[in-house]
Parts: sequence; C-alpha cells; structure tokens
Amino acid sequence: MVPGRSQYRRHRADGEMVVKKVFRISNSALKNIKTYREEWETTGYVSTKNFLDETSAHLLYTLLSKKIPEYWWFRSFKIDEEDNMIDEKINMKLVQKDKSVKALTDNLLLKCQEAFSRHVYCFSFDSAHAHKTGCPCLLCEYKQFINSGEFKEFVQAVTNTRPKLNDIHFKATRYQSGQFLAPHTDEHHGFTAAIHHMTQNWLPSYGGNLQILSNDSKKVKKTVVPEFNTLTFLDLKNARYCHGVTHVAPFVKRSRYALTYWLNKEESKNESG
Ligand SMILES: [Zn+2]
Repeated sequence: MVPGRSQYRRHRADGEMVVKKVFRISNSALKNIKTYREEWETTGYVSTKNFLDETSAHLLYTLLSKKIPEYWWFRSFKIDEEDNMIDEKINMKLVQKDKSVKALTDNLLLKCQEAFSRHVYCFSFDSAHAHKTGCPCLLCEYKQFINSGEFKEFVQAVTNTRPKLNDIHFKATRYQSGQFLAPHTDEHHGFTAAIHHMTQNWLPSYGGNLQILSNDSKKVKKTVVPEFNTLTFLDLKNARYCHGVTHVAPFVKRSRYALTYWLNKEESKNESG
C-alpha cells in the first residue's frame, strides 16, 4: 500500500488504467483571474484564496497532516555563515526513534535560532520530496498537476509567463514550533516562487507567517498568513523581494504545511529555431 495513494485511479475491466483528475482549480480562482493579474502587475505578488476545489484541497490536507509517514519527512538545518556553516538533513523517523538523534536536532535548532538573531541566512523546517516518475501517491499526483496545461494556463493568465516547474525544488514543507526560514531572495531558483499553504485553522498569532519584505529586508511589504488552500506567487526576477517565514511560536502543537516550488519561464518552441 502506497501511503496517500490516490483513490481516484481505477482499472477498467480490460486492465487499462483510467485516471480521473484529482486536483482541480476552483471556480472562484478561475473567476478572479483578472483581479489576480492586476495585483501581480502592481505589486509583484498575489495570493489566491481557495485555489483548489474543496474536495481536492481536503485530500491534500489529509495527505500532509495524516497520511505521509514520518520517514518521508527530513528535518533540515542550515546556517550560511563563515566559520559556522551548518547544512544537515535528518530523517524524522530517526528523530522519533532515537533519543540521541532527538537531542542532536534540538541542539541544531538552537544553533539556527541563535544565528537568526545575528541576521545570518539560516533556517530549519521539514521537507518531503516527490518520488520516481509514475509513483501513484498524492504528492506525486500534485506535482503532475502543476505540470499540467490547466495549471500552466492559470499561471500564464496571472503572471504573463508560461511556467516550467523547477523539478528538483518541488517539496512539501512542514514547520513546527521554533522552526523558521530567515529572509532571503531566490533569484537563482526561477522566475516565480509558488507557496501553496495547506494548514487548517491556523492563526496569525501562531507565527509561521510568510513575510514579503523590501530588498534590504527592513520593511514589511505584506504578511501572508498561511491560510488553508491559499496559493501565493512571488516575483523573483523583477521585484526581487526578500521573503521568509517567521518562527512558529513556542508551544504551538499544530504543524504548518505547504507545497513550495519555483517556476521558470518555459522556453517557447519557436525560439530555438
Ligand atoms: Zn510519490
């Protein structure tokens, strides 16, 4: 049994696989494209509330919050500072099983938090990556969805750029109490950053808010509360905003889930000829 296996795949009597689309863009998102386009052109960022239709959004939430087994998650720790570099990824199954590994990760988190206070680029969050081509799990199904014509047309209508997914950096992310992502730019990753927030019943006071900042990271342009099923696009090429995720507050027991990925400009077929 594949965890989070799509329940929408069915075999016909003759054995041929029939695939029903799992993920669909909601009608409200499609209806408001013009408004999103205007906001994108004015500011270089835009948030689409209720992006997926209700059924597929709930399937995705159940996957992230319940179905993904702990061994799919890796806890990463990064400090980008001379003489104090840290770049670790530790499987969460190990953290659960082994007290000494748990102690190690607690210590690494403290180091990252301390580096954060000195305005160094650092982070700690959990990530789960997609699998090999053909994997029937919902995470991989979502990745297929953002490679589909339906999704590309939506992005093109909003951002005026036909997107190509930067495959390697597609991931599900989870932030728990104390975890954060310090302000940074992502220019080298692509044209557009996409963050699909997938946490139910999240409050702004829990932290874990996506902050869009000025280039010098001193002014807040916008705070995006990670509301359930909100897809945010952020212009990395022209606006070059700094952005980050604020610390999830102490003692918060809920996890903050999202799908995050970068989109490049798809080369037009005529351009090369
Ligand atoms: Zn998979």
